Amino acid sequence: MNREALIVVDYQNDFAEGGSLAVTGARALAPQIQSQMNLTRTQSGLIVATRDWHPEKTIHFQRDGGAIWPVHCIAGTPGAEYVEGIDKSMIDVEIYKWFKNSDDGYSGFEWVDRLSGDPQSGFEVGSGASSLEQILRDANVSVLRIVGLATDFCVYATAKSAKELWFEVEVLRSGIAAVNAPGLSSGEDKLRELANMWVKIS
Ligand SMILES: [Zn+2]
Repeated sequence: MNREALIVVDYQNDFAEGGSLAVTGARALAPQIQSQMNLTRTQSGLIVATRDWHPEKTIHFQRDGGAIWPVHCIAGTPGAEYVEGIDKSMIDVEIYKWFKNSDDGYSGFEWVDRLSGDPQSGFEVGSGASSLEQILRDANVSVLRIVGLATDFCVYATAKSAKELWFEVEVLRSGIAAVNAPGLSSGEDKLRELANMWVKIS
């Protein structure tokens, strides 16, 4: 059985209009993301949501020595909450990333803790039952549909990881939006890269 999962990547206030790292068009995605959640539910699929969940200080932030990013999605703050317009109660699995002061952690398949978003709890997990890969395997999921933010970073990285782990992966254009940072690969560039890895872009 090819059970499906929908992965809603980082659909969080700080990445939406009005947030500290706003992606144009983010808020307008809510109805499309919700309709994908509804569809997944009717097909008995698994609904997964990832969230950036950073400590106050991390080399991920430019302020603290990082390359480009302003402070965003600090654990437990309103900026780290889901964007309005999706039904949070439908989410089966929440993945919190990246409460470590090491790298950017764009992919939902990197170090995570599905059980607790509590900054005090450690987060030095990321293997066994706590990894997204294991959660999906345990649920007999082999097909992933990906929506969320942002196309050129966390959506790209999550789709790439998933493909490398041999999942069947589809990224839905109607449910994504890109940062398109000056001087870096655009969202469209990244979608082309994914297509070359046999990720379906629809
Ligand atoms: Zn981040």
